[in-house]
Amino acid sequence: MDKVDGVVIGAGVVGLAAARACILAAPPHARDWLVLEAADAIGTGTSSRNSEVIHAGIYYPQGSLKARLCVQGRELLYAYAQARGIGHRRCGKLIVATQDDQLPALQAIAQKAQANGVHDLQFLSAEQAQRMEPALHCVAALHSPSTGIVDSHALMLSLQGDFENAGGCVALNSPVAGLRFTPQGWIVRMRDGSELLAQQVVNAAGLTAPTLAREFEGLADRHVPPAYFAKGNYFTLSGKSPFSHLIYPVPEAAGLGVHLTLDLGGQAKFGPDVQWVDSPQDLQVSLANEPTFYAEVRKYWPALPEGALQPGYAGIRPKIAAPHQAASDFVIQGPATHGLAGLVNLFGIESPGLTSCLAIGQAVLERMQAQAV
Ligand SMILES: Cc1cc2nc3c(=O)[nH]c(=O)nc-3n(C[C@H](O)[C@H](O)[C@H](O)COP(=O)(O)OP(=O)(O)OC[C@H]3O[C@@H](n4cnc5c(N)ncnc54)[C@H](O)[C@@H]3O)c2cc1C
Repeated sequence: MDKVDGVVIGAGVVGLAAARACILAAPPHARDWLVLEAADAIGTGTSSRNSEVIHAGIYYPQGSLKARLCVQGRELLYAYAQARGIGHRRCGKLIVATQDDQLPALQAIAQKAQANGVHDLQFLSAEQAQRMEPALHCVAALHSPSTGIVDSHALMLSLQGDFENAGGCVALNSPVAGLRFTPQGWIVRMRDGSELLAQQVVNAAGLTAPTLAREFEGLADRHVPPAYFAKGNYFTLSGKSPFSHLIYPVPEAAGLGVHLTLDLGGQAKFGPDVQWVDSPQDLQVSLANEPTFYAEVRKYWPALPEGALQPGYAGIRPKIAAPHQAASDFVIQGPATHGLAGLVNLFGIESPGLTSCLAIGQAVLERMQAQAV
């Protein structure tokens, strides 16, 4: 049986960042690391189906991993993107109240941001906001100058490059079926029936991380959360965007509202909405949602022309809390929690997972190094 120092399951942005962090921290003689990816390319899961926004860290409950790792990860990501020439822009965003009854919610967002260490938000009157974005309708807005956008594919290629330069190897078309805990390490069972022995394993399988973890012999069921799937549809804007900042409404319960984001070429898209689905494969854009998009967007851009929205793509949030429950935090679960040396599970890594990826990588390393109880 082949033996390796470590395995990361899943080559999304979080798996690649975790793999990079683990291998760079390993001594030269322990850098036999593999990323095992089921698909035929890196980053074909949620990591290529998101808004590519570098979040400032505004919305999350104080003290949560989301709040902490987003603020930390945002700075790490800007620095990394700058150093590696990865396309990104600190374009800033406006969070807009479109009716007076949303003003308390806007105040609450500003307070939450302060508590999370995001100190650069500015309150804008309607006139100030419209001076920045003449097409915008709002009664007030918050300006977040540290929000930006990043080329997520260039980011993933760079993370893969760092990992491989340090001696690691990304194996595509390599679906993992399960693990078995032994005194010698983790036996990794591949779907083709082959096995290998790894001293450390990171489960970064995204949407299917909980399902896969149920196939880890030795891991108690109570440590594996349920999996729920919340699809987010996007519609793209045909024609030129009238906005140069990202525009977000006051957030909804399970998402951040149908917002406008820009790619590095200036193309605008709207989304994601929130549609709970049964399967992580349900990636068709739900065309029936189009009228709701027009209605939601026209709240802050009344002049959106009829026929300007085109179906774009959809991504699925890896939820671990049911629709009626409060949003859950990231779960980065190591030996100190489940008692099994050499295993870290990542569950519920929804937004801001892209922003936080480098900080999550560091957290995986810390969890891995913490002692089993
Ligand atoms: C609609 C939407 C919008 C978002 N917008 C933003 C945003 O603007 N900013 C932000 O910071 N975050 C955003 N996010 C969150 C961000 O996209 C995710 O947190 C991040 O991409 C998760 O990366 P990952 O590597 O954990 O998962 P994934 O990208 O899903 O990667 C998991 C990988 O594991 C592989 N895999 C699964 N099972 C196996 C197996 N058994 N064996 C081997 N490989 C396996 C899959 O093929 C996949 O490649 C958004 C998410 C969604 C859904």
